[in-house]
Amino acid sequence: MKPRTLRIGYRYRARRLAPEYDAIVIGSGMGGLTTAALLSEFGFRVCVLEQHYTAGGYTHSYERGGYEWDVGVHYIGDVGTRTRTRKMFDFLSEGRLKWAPMDAEYDRFYVGDKVFNAVAGKQAFRDNLVRQFPGEEQAIDRYLELLSEMGAAMSAYAMDKVLKPWQRTLAAPFMSWRKPKNLFRNTYTVLSELTDNQDLIATICGQWGDMGLPPKQSAFMVHAMIARHYLYGGFYPVGGSWRIAESIIPRIQKAGGEVFTYAGVQKILVEEGKVTGVEMADGHRIECACVISSAGVENTFERLLPKEAVTATGYERQLGTVHPSMAHLGVYVGLKHTAEELDLPKTNFWIYPHNDYDAAVDEFLADADAPFPVVYISFPSAKDPDYEKRHPGTATVEIVAPAPYAWFEQWTDTTWGKRGDDYEAFKAELGERLMQYLYDKLPQLKGKVDYYEVSTPQSTNWFSGYRHGELYGLDHTAQRLRQDWLGPRTRIPGLWLTGQDVLTCGVTGAMMAGMLTTMAIVGVRRMAPLLKRIYSN
Ligand SMILES: Cc1cc2nc3c(=O)[nH]c(=O)nc-3n(C[C@H](O)[C@H](O)[C@H](O)COP(=O)(O)OP(=O)(O)OC[C@H]3O[C@@H](n4cnc5c(N)ncnc54)[C@H](O)[C@@H]3O)c2cc1C
Repeated sequence: MKPRTLRIGYRYRARRLAPEYDAIVIGSGMGGLTTAALLSEFGFRVCVLEQHYTAGGYTHSYERGGYEWDVGVHYIGDVGTRTRTRKMFDFLSEGRLKWAPMDAEYDRFYVGDKVFNAVAGKQAFRDNLVRQFPGEEQAIDRYLELLSEMGAAMSAYAMDKVLKPWQRTLAAPFMSWRKPKNLFRNTYTVLSELTDNQDLIATICGQWGDMGLPPKQSAFMVHAMIARHYLYGGFYPVGGSWRIAESIIPRIQKAGGEVFTYAGVQKILVEEGKVTGVEMADGHRIECACVISSAGVENTFERLLPKEAVTATGYERQLGTVHPSMAHLGVYVGLKHTAEELDLPKTNFWIYPHNDYDAAVDEFLADADAPFPVVYISFPSAKDPDYEKRHPGTATVEIVAPAPYAWFEQWTDTTWGKRGDDYEAFKAELGERLMQYLYDKLPQLKGKVDYYEVSTPQSTNWFSGYRHGELYGLDHTAQRLRQDWLGPRTRIPGLWLTGQDVLTCGVTGAMMAGMLTTMAIVGVRRMAPLLKRIYSN
């Protein structure tokens, strides 16, 4: 099939650059675009440099054979009413971005041969859990209380990242986020203090794939963040996830900035300990004293910065405290019938072999033929009220499952589309395995699939610039979340960080990181009136 691609952004050529920029952003994911758009509001002319052929990072979509798929967005929470999250999206997109609600049952968990689910709305979520687990009312209510406690703690945790080190030391005694003892505790430990019902714990943790760590490995803070995020249901960006970047870019352009694609940055230039600009893959140098990297911490410190600068500032040692998150497989399915005809739900499916998620991961890592520890199935064309207009008479499905990067390491230095027969055969085998999960849950799709293709961790590296096919940047362990150096500020003057490694993964996590990075650059005093304007609307 002939590929056709959704491309947004302006193709990079050195001669297309403006003579001067106030800031350079490396990477056009949600973190980079948010930072660029907010800085534009302060009059900054921002140059966003994206190595891929289209802007958006993990929010980009692609088309092939008359179908369209998203690569890193299946649902966003907290945008159904005028929440702060929604207001920030509205501001960045100048109201262009619209949201479509999923079904009230937004997540369904197949746990062995049992089925549980999550429904939208705090009270409905609670009542639904109580219905599924009669006798566990007290544990469920206490769990919801813990989620509320975490809310305030997470805001303080985020704001702490904007402070300069001396300010952080001064503020430490007042920081309430240091108080909740559960913040960095292991999710399973916290939950097992509430109940010993393993099915209830499994249902509460049924979204663990949203941050990439099963409950015995993840920090409760991240579990709570995800659970709170989706408490009022899931929403899909009308028109597809690529609309996120497309609707934000005009704000950057209005201030004289631009988002360039095919614009791989090769080096961050450092002279006398300070950032002076970037060197592009074509060797062209762009001078700028303010460089913001949203390319991920590993890329920034291990690939882009000169080694001497990393060693001299102590980052080399600190990099050992963080690790990439799990890698994944994607299956992109096209069907020659509409979502309605096929009865596809606006509900995500999470399929687990049994209720011990950590054990399932271990079993899979020990034996590649063991069941996938989680298989996630999403129905984007069903969720998008606009899909039919763009691709009449068709429907799409996306499947995501974990896969160790080691399985694909041997193809590290190969080129996309030219990785050889062994690679294709391996992909085909994995694709067939994952398609069985789909047919098992929706047998009506048998014989209706027109096309499907499989992405691997090497595809993630190729298109998104990562190095270990990581789904969510750095792994969300308690150890990672405790790292003070993971924040917008760096010890290299002129270099700032943003994106999912600064705060947490997720489109909203990256967006909030963009907000924090802007605040760190312009200062809290200048940022406060802008936030007031955004949030009071
Ligand atoms: C399969 C999958 C499903 C997901 N589902 C959801 C979901 O349903 N809801 C949700 O909220 N989140 C979801 N996420 C997570 C979410 O998409 C990410 O956490 C978030 O988009 C990350 O944004 P970011 O800006 O930090 O990074 P990215 O989006 O990764 O952006 C970084 C950008 O930097 C570019 N780059 C890297 N190196 C260079 C370089 N040297 N020069 C120039 N550019 C460079 C990359 O090409 C990339 O575009 C999902 C992720 C995946 C992978």
